[in-house]
Amino acid sequence: MPDSPRIILDLDLPVSYESDDALKRIVANRLGMGADELRSVQLLRRSLDARRRRFRYRARVEVELADAACRERALQRPGAGPLPGAPQVPDQRIVEGLQRGNRSLGAPPLIVGSGPAGLFAAWLLSEYGFQPIVLERGNRVEQRVRDVRRFEQSGEFDPESNILFGEGGAGTFSDGKLTCRTKSPVKRALFQLMVDCKAPEDILYQAKAHIGTDRLRAVLVHLRRLLEARGVQFRFATRMDDLILDEAGAIRGLRLQDGEELLSEVVLLGIGHSARDSYAMLQDRGVEMAFKPFQLGLRIEHPQPFVDGFRYGAEALGLQLPTAEYSVKAKALGTELFSFCMCPGGTIVPSVSQPGFLSTNGMSRRNRDSGWANSGLVYTVDLKETDGIDALAGVRLQERLEARAFEMGVGYQVPTQRASDFLAQRLSKGLVETTYPLGHVMADLREFLPGIGASLMGEALKTFQRRFPGFAGNDAVLVGPETRGSAPLRMPRELDSRESVSTPGLYPIGEGAGFAGGIVSAALDGVRSARVIVEAFAPAGSNPGK
Ligand SMILES: Cc1cc2nc3c(=O)[nH]c(=O)nc-3n(C[C@H](O)[C@H](O)[C@H](O)COP(=O)(O)OP(=O)(O)OC[C@H]3O[C@@H](n4cnc5c(N)ncnc54)[C@H](O)[C@@H]3O)c2cc1C
Repeated sequence: MPDSPRIILDLDLPVSYESDDALKRIVANRLGMGADELRSVQLLRRSLDARRRRFRYRARVEVELADAACRERALQRPGAGPLPGAPQVPDQRIVEGLQRGNRSLGAPPLIVGSGPAGLFAAWLLSEYGFQPIVLERGNRVEQRVRDVRRFEQSGEFDPESNILFGEGGAGTFSDGKLTCRTKSPVKRALFQLMVDCKAPEDILYQAKAHIGTDRLRAVLVHLRRLLEARGVQFRFATRMDDLILDEAGAIRGLRLQDGEELLSEVVLLGIGHSARDSYAMLQDRGVEMAFKPFQLGLRIEHPQPFVDGFRYGAEALGLQLPTAEYSVKAKALGTELFSFCMCPGGTIVPSVSQPGFLSTNGMSRRNRDSGWANSGLVYTVDLKETDGIDALAGVRLQERLEARAFEMGVGYQVPTQRASDFLAQRLSKGLVETTYPLGHVMADLREFLPGIGASLMGEALKTFQRRFPGFAGNDAVLVGPETRGSAPLRMPRELDSRESVSTPGLYPIGEGAGFAGGIVSAALDGVRSARVIVEAFAPAGSNPGK
């Protein structure tokens, strides 16, 4: 709107500013205006700038001014500019103004998996009057939290309800980092939906948005209630065990673990990257799948003050800064090793979905206050490290490493080694501290790194140690293996219809399909497939003409 008395302003903010009122005062000052000439100030983006240890936030705000004359004056100030028009990107249509299709569905769409891909697909479908049934092998989040706590306290493991399986999928027990490079306007819509479901509002403007596992759980409950109110049905503790196909190989429905059959010609498959039994069944059923290079490695943990020290330095003393995070990478032997899923103020968790296997990952609470920092140090493995060329070759490699890790300890103790001992090629002795909840056993972690992995890890640790003295020192503890950084296979899809190339009616979505990695990208992938379904079909029982 050309006459709207609004502008965009880019400015630096002191890290000490505390409230919306303080923000308004700073903006008024910057624009040379009185507080009464500003109607409102809204943060659109904020990121910490710690370069040269001069700490400040770089921010972008939208300012609503009292009248058009104020706007003209404000536009003369440095950093001020007109409101950009609505972004012209195809994704805009994903949320608004879709033309519903006219092929009436005989039954509601089925969604397998209540991870980000499945949940946000259900949300978009429900926006257009569809009432999908969401099947989730794990428990609803309230019960799942108890299942995971029991596991972490006693080692009693539930293969259906754990850190990887259950309401919210793998993202529930996570750091809740909402990083994703896309600028899609749908991302904004998803974040707003999460805020409506009680996620912290700062995810709307923080450059590195983070919810935290504790707040995520509450968001999931609100999202479930919102979807149920629109007629979405959730069936927890309900595992899909088989596909029902017609003679032409097209999907006709699903068979559940108790033999019940649910019929539908539309099935969204958002099973994540750890449902190995489901992967095997899909292969038996002839669903096209192919090996995909994936990441594995180890996880490293430091005392958080060490990370704060190398990121912020002594200059940060007394300042209220976010718990420091880092991102490191090093090239050696023609390959890159990089930090992955860094959890400031977090804990290391057993990322396990089958008994007898062990892999690690990290999570954190909203306050990031554990006093420890961990991150995966991973590299990409390709087919030559595996024992075959079939779609499940990567799964077998993961399983081999995870089974070896499980055998080393008692229960789910994690193989552990100080980074300095890894470099010196000796077992660690004495007291080693880690946040991993189920105890640890000293091990030589080189054996979990196939191919050039052990040499690469050694070279990379030396590089990080040179850049940040202490990074691979005595207080740095390695655990592992970290095998599930990404999906080890892909389910090829038709470009336009996004159906499986082998199985019409089957829509592989999210990380398990090999098309996403992370909460936001999995959610967006689910939403994009839901869009195609909205545009092709009309909800069961509706009048497609309307
Ligand atoms: C500990 C941990 C921390 C993480 N931290 C972050 C982070 O901070 N930020 C980030 O962006 N990403 C993070 N990730 C990755 C992120 O969680 C995943 O990329 C994302 O959840 C993938 O979403 P999805 O919906 O594709 O699959 P998933 O979230 O894996 O969901 C799949 C769901 O399908 C269900 N399912 C599987 N098979 C069946 C079946 N046969 N029948 C019925 N249901 C089935 C599973 O129980 C599961 O709930 C983390 C992952 C882990 C494990």
